[in-house]
Amino acid sequence: MGKGGAMIARQGQRGFGGRVIVPASGLLVGVWLALGIAVAAESAEGPKTAPTIEKGAQAPHRVTSPHFVTEFSVPPPVGRTYGVLCERAYANFRRMFNVEADEVVWEGKCQVYLFATRDEMVKFATTVTKSLAAAQSAGYTNITTEDPTIVLYLDKNDQGKLRRTLVHEMTHVFLQLFHGGGAKVPVWLHEGFAQYFEFDSDPEHSRRKDSKARIKRLVAHGQQAPLERFWTMDFPPTDMDSYAQAWSLVDFMVQRGSAKMTGQFILQIKEGVAQEEALRNTFRCSLPQFEAAWRRYAQQSY
Ligand SMILES: [Zn+2]
Repeated sequence: MGKGGAMIARQGQRGFGGRVIVPASGLLVGVWLALGIAVAAESAEGPKTAPTIEKGAQAPHRVTSPHFVTEFSVPPPVGRTYGVLCERAYANFRRMFNVEADEVVWEGKCQVYLFATRDEMVKFATTVTKSLAAAQSAGYTNITTEDPTIVLYLDKNDQGKLRRTLVHEMTHVFLQLFHGGGAKVPVWLHEGFAQYFEFDSDPEHSRRKDSKARIKRLVAHGQQAPLERFWTMDFPPTDMDSYAQAWSLVDFMVQRGSAKMTGQFILQIKEGVAQEEALRNTFRCSLPQFEAAWRRYAQQSY
């Protein structure tokens, strides 16, 4: 990006000399989310045009694939890698959630912005999306049924972080939008799945080990949140105990049940079935049985 910073213009327009052009509709209407809680947002009426990083002194690059448009100011070889990663992750989600190849998960393309520095992302967050909370985080997401958007930056000290965060954010987008949106997916499932795929994308991810140790310790002392409360509660990104519990529950469902059963469970939730009933329908157990089995799993497997 040039000295003007994160300059953007509507698609098809160019040369705005450093001014930030905010689209009149669409992209900014949804709820921008700082790494964490995902809420489905209605898309705006009228024509929608996603902004594009304006071509500046250090021209940003763009890769288009079937489901994504990836714009990046990171070095081209790096950016292209992420373009490929997006489609690969999409295919993983499809397998896990049993989504047919021809299903339209979102209209248009998911817009992925990869900034070379945190400063560029912060500028984009503060001037374009007006999200101060997002500016504080490693990335953020706008989940809209048309052109959902993910914004991230490359941490020079931790190159793997961009890949992990991208997978994490994409999980939120996919989870909420597949099969036509439906009921809001509870926070524990959102964060559980986002971390599940995030950890899966990096076998060396230290948080997987940390999460195992954390949840094992909590369960050993009976300090985990009771499921009946946990699966309706909200928690902030700083609540590491809840994040670990959310991941562990999804890990348990997939490892001790199956990816297919877990996918069916999510589908029922999206269709509006109560969680306890969805558990009975797919995992054939009651809430207390499920909770006891999960606690045993955490004690024995981590
Ligand atoms: Zn998240």
